[in-house]
Amino acid sequence: MLRVVMEEGCTTRSKVLNYLGERFRVKMNLPEWFTNEQCASFLMEQCLCIHLKSDVEKFYLLCLMTRKLFTFAKQECMEENPDSLMCQEVLTPGQLYLMFLKEKMAAWLVSVKISIDKRAHRLQWSGVTMENLMKMFTMGADLTKPFEYLLATGNLHSKTGLGMLQESGLCVVADKLNFIRYLSHFRCVHRGAAFAKMRTTTVRRLLPESWGFLCPVHTPDGEPCGLMNHMTAHCQVVAPVHSTTTLPALLCSLGVTPVGGTPSQPYSDCYPVVLDGAMVGWVDRELAPVAVDSLRRFKVLKEKRIPPWTEIVLVPQTGKSSIYPGLYLFTTPCRLVRPVQNLALGQEELIGTFEQLFINVGIFEGEIEPGVTTHQELFPHSMLSVVASFIPYSDHNQSPRNMYQCQMGKQTMGFPLHSFQERSDNKLYRLQTPQSPLVRPYMYDHYNMDNYPIGTNAIVAVISYTGYDMEDAMILNKASWERGFGHGCVYKTELVDLAEKMKGEDCLVFGAKPGDPKVMGKLDVDGLPPIGAVLHYGDPFYSYINLNTGQSFVTFYKSKESCVVDNIKVCSNDAGTGRFKRICLTVRVPRNPTIGDKFASRHGQKGILSRLWPAEDMPFTESGMTPDILFNPHGFPSRMTIGMLIESMAGKSGALHGMCHDATPFRFSEENPALEHFGDMLRAAGYNYYGTERLYSGLSGLELEADIFIGVVYYQRLRHMVSDKFQVRTTGARDKVTNQPVGGRNVQGGIRFGEMERDALLAHGTSFLLHDRLFNCSDRSVAQVCLDCGSLLSPLLEKPPPTWSATRHRKTICTLCGKSDSIDTVSVPYVFRYFVAELAAMNIKIKLDVK
Ligand SMILES: [Zn+2]
Repeated sequence: MLRVVMEEGCTTRSKVLNYLGERFRVKMNLPEWFTNEQCASFLMEQCLCIHLKSDVEKFYLLCLMTRKLFTFAKQECMEENPDSLMCQEVLTPGQLYLMFLKEKMAAWLVSVKISIDKRAHRLQWSGVTMENLMKMFTMGADLTKPFEYLLATGNLHSKTGLGMLQESGLCVVADKLNFIRYLSHFRCVHRGAAFAKMRTTTVRRLLPESWGFLCPVHTPDGEPCGLMNHMTAHCQVVAPVHSTTTLPALLCSLGVTPVGGTPSQPYSDCYPVVLDGAMVGWVDRELAPVAVDSLRRFKVLKEKRIPPWTEIVLVPQTGKSSIYPGLYLFTTPCRLVRPVQNLALGQEELIGTFEQLFINVGIFEGEIEPGVTTHQELFPHSMLSVVASFIPYSDHNQSPRNMYQCQMGKQTMGFPLHSFQERSDNKLYRLQTPQSPLVRPYMYDHYNMDNYPIGTNAIVAVISYTGYDMEDAMILNKASWERGFGHGCVYKTELVDLAEKMKGEDCLVFGAKPGDPKVMGKLDVDGLPPIGAVLHYGDPFYSYINLNTGQSFVTFYKSKESCVVDNIKVCSNDAGTGRFKRICLTVRVPRNPTIGDKFASRHGQKGILSRLWPAEDMPFTESGMTPDILFNPHGFPSRMTIGMLIESMAGKSGALHGMCHDATPFRFSEENPALEHFGDMLRAAGYNYYGTERLYSGLSGLELEADIFIGVVYYQRLRHMVSDKFQVRTTGARDKVTNQPVGGRNVQGGIRFGEMERDALLAHGTSFLLHDRLFNCSDRSVAQVCLDCGSLLSPLLEKPPPTWSATRHRKTICTLCGKSDSIDTVSVPYVFRYFVAELAAMNIKIKLDVK
């Protein structure tokens, strides 16, 4: 390396700078008048170890990096895994805003500079006054608009790209479908859209390093699996910035030799000490653990101005190749930290992702080894995210089921907020009769989820009855439905702004013409429906009047679903002086369960309501009780959701004894099984130990031969409802070009009969059906074709003769052959005729061989 430097003649500092500047200035877009040396210092400042200020610090860090490189080349240390959480930080919204603001501010400064330059040139500086300057400042590039755009669309419009790998998808709507979903939006960590397209799966792996920081079950399945993660309930992101100026002095007092000094031991017997990416000194290998212990004590006891979120990592020299040994300290924001119990000091301590790897954290009391274990988890379930910790007995379930519940919990209809009257969300779901679960984990109460319940305690019998419950379908007791089981509604809000209806003019206001028969008795004089009015399809929705002409306009309710007017907010300008031009109209659509609606228990067991079964025909117990839900027993063996079985027994015993059960995971074990605990409670209440009961057929009244497992399970109603999804078509709109039926539910289109479906029919040999679907029910048309020249395009209807009486006997004549007796009709798909015409436009003739 040095020889190359000598050969290039870089013998002095200025020569080296000159050399560097000469090489790099092409890439840096610096002004012409910058000397090569200035270019080189700019390069050092802006591109090299930019987290450090002075050149000396940069020099020491480069030295450390070189040492590390040599060690790695000699295979004495391992490479670091960039996919591992220990090397990662999160980008918080605040950081993104700051970077974006900085860039936009720079753009603003440039634009102001240009306008000052222009003005000064014209006015010779004498004309530059305060007002002028103010004008120039306001003329500069806008700051508000780009931010509004970023927040509204999630797209980053930036020249530099801010060093981000993605330009879109930076914002998501924090929708309030239910409270869990809302909460989980704020705990979500995404690895970046760029990784989703990568072929390799290494980035998606669940690494042991992420224990306690990222939830192992709360990640979606499918494309974003493993990339979109959620922080655990106790994990937090360091936000504050703390000055570290006092830390080097403190380190020296603990036996660290400053980086400029010479340590008493040879360098090979010392660990480098790195603080926030800056080399600060050397510490004796024997002394290092002692120093770390004192640092940790100061950190936990909040002494010596060490922030509690400091990460203290001593990577020891082990003789085996591991991560490069050293003492690393971090205080910077954006790192993930989580609390654990420090056993020596008996207090909570925040540990970081890197730190966690080199300290010994026990989970249960029994795992603590004196002298080895230094920390203990606060709870065994602190490895779970907020949503995952709401799953009762999740440790008894197969892991994918817990993943499904994490998804489903976020799609549940619930009670998302308490201020329905004040909200104007586009769409809000509300469960009318929610209940507090009888069986709930500790975290449910910790988050006061009873304020935002998401389900109903249902009596569930695990029985195959009537055949309507096959393939995950479930039968609902009609009497329970009639008493309000799963009832809910959807709030839809429409913002009507009359200013948008007629641009430029200010003469439209809400109001109805007195005595207008269209709105009589339906709308009030203000042109709006009364609160509580029921609107059906085609009813007047609101009406407005043109003040200049006196003309009135009525808008009608367009949805096929009837609704109730819930509330109307009259909006105005900020001063409240504007005309009556804007309203927020909220309607309530009742959505009580119908056949095809989706329900799920809290164990990833979803099902479709297949039948509302009359209560008198439901199976009943000895006491005459009929279950709310019949659940098909085939749902259990392959899914292995033992948690649901336990919940059923726990719910039953809780209902019998009048208490709520704690369903926190990791409470029960092989030695202390849940079955025994709840079995004993059931037996004490006079029920079967195993949670089964004798049931009688509701149809015949005969006693069923098998004992039926029946208990109480908390059921959620999911937002996927048939009313939003069903698609029917007989006849309707067609595509203008191809004349084929259009697709899409909201235009009453058909469901596509695609190529794969076609293949299926071909394989079955059902060609008549195929013909019917793809031809008769699609774009069948009758076309004229000339048998002689085989053209579809040349036969034309002859011009009408002067006497109109002859119109009905007009003939079709081939314009090429000039005769009409060669014309015949064929049935072809309409799109084929279009295709022929398109080809003709490209000078390709299609000849039909018609016989
Ligand atoms: Zn012809």
